[in-house]
Amino acid sequence: MKQSFLQIEDITKVYDKRITALSGVSFQVDRGQVVGLVGPNGSGKSTLIKILLGLVNADKGQVYIHHEKPGEDNSRKVSAVLEYETLFPFFTARENLKITALTKDLPKEEIDRVLKFAGLDKRKGKVKKFSLGMRRRLMIAAALMGDPELIIMDEPTNGLDQIAIGEVKTLIRKLADSGITVIVASHALHDVEKICSHVGFLLNGELKAYKPMDSYITQYETLDNAFHHYASKITQTP
Ligand code: ADP
Ligand code: MG
Repeated sequence: MKQSFLQIEDITKVYDKRITALSGVSFQVDRGQVVGLVGPNGSGKSTLIKILLGLVNADKGQVYIHHEKPGEDNSRKVSAVLEYETLFPFFTARENLKITALTKDLPKEEIDRVLKFAGLDKRKGKVKKFSLGMRRRLMIAAALMGDPELIIMDEPTNGLDQIAIGEVKTLIRKLADSGITVIVASHALHDVEKICSHVGFLLNGELKAYKPMDSYITQYETLDNAFHHYASKITQTP
């Protein structure tokens, strides 16, 4: 049997012995895919991301990233953009990335490469003067340092205006075009629809569907319709 790049097998997570954040979640991701994990707040997206990063342990099930468990030897291959801004506002973009370069033990050329990739190479001045889109792009640039194979993002468009959302979507597509596998957790269906090759619907900690984007669009026309189809099944259940 072919082993996928990322294997998520029967993941269950219960917080404090009573909050079931995830229940029996399984899916597989191949290299180069852009995967959207979609679901309302509280559906378990961030928990799943933390498990993929080895920041939270699952109570049941396994995750393999290229045959290795999260947080072990593959930490260099996997990178993340988490929900909250992790920039130093009084530093420039380059100074922020210098800190990342130090923590990841990377050469300064890597800073030039990712600044250019994110379209921030000409930008001077402190990060606190940046637009929201530029700040989020800088966080993605930091995640890109060290040439990861997989970048995981938690709500990358959250709190952004339309212009910034457009910039972030363009950058995510650019990552995918350069061969990086991307996983995006989001409650914003519209943002996911434009960038993802595959989408999973998480509802109350269960993965209700996991399919290529095309198959949702063929069957339901929009991702929104598809999502509501699966969500309505849940609310009808007594
Ligand atoms: P999402 O990212 O989809 O909003 P989360 O994974 O953050 O979902 O949360 C899923 C469920 O787990 C929610 O009910 C949330 O309150 C709960 N939860 C998340 N983190 C913790 C934690 N550290 N301790 C206890 N409960 C948690
Ligand atoms: Mg979340």
